[in-house]
Amino acid sequence: MIPLIIIFGLGSRQKQVGEGQFFCPRCGTQRRYIQKQANRYFTVFFLPVVPLGKIGDFVECQTCHAAFETTVLNFKAPPPPPPSLAQLLNTAKERLERGTPIEYILRDMTAAGLDRDIAHSTVTNFVKDGRKTCSSCGLSYHPVAKTCQGCGKLLS
Ligand SMILES: [Zn+2]
Ligand SMILES: [Zn+2]
Repeated sequence: MIPLIIIFGLGSRQKQVGEGQFFCPRCGTQRRYIQKQANRYFTVFFLPVVPLGKIGDFVECQTCHAAFETTVLNFKAPPPPPPSLAQLLNTAKERLERGTPIEYILRDMTAAGLDRDIAHSTVTNFVKDGRKTCSSCGLSYHPVAKTCQGCGKLLS
């Protein structure tokens, strides 16, 4: 019976109760977690190292191994900041060539504060006269675009 007592004494009573993906505040990104249930002994044993707040479940990041209260699972990753006008202008040509509809590029540019006429002439400068228009939904594209992102139709 003695080995059994030693195993308990080492705090092996934590058990896994769940797992999944969460936003780890320490890593600052999406990570895999394991949710564990800690008994009193385990919690007391770890209290100086890991501030769990209360005895019960905790969530452990499988990348940085930090432990959090289960409320961390309610946190959502902060939305990425909207691209700046400079970024939009720098990436517009590439996005057009990757098949992003001209209308979407214009919408992004004007949303970022660019004058509509300037946005139009900027895009026109990239696509020249070769723009393709989807016969099904009316979105228009750079001449290298192959399929419509709006409806999936092949562009001719
Ligand atoms: Zn982490
Ligand atoms: Zn279409």
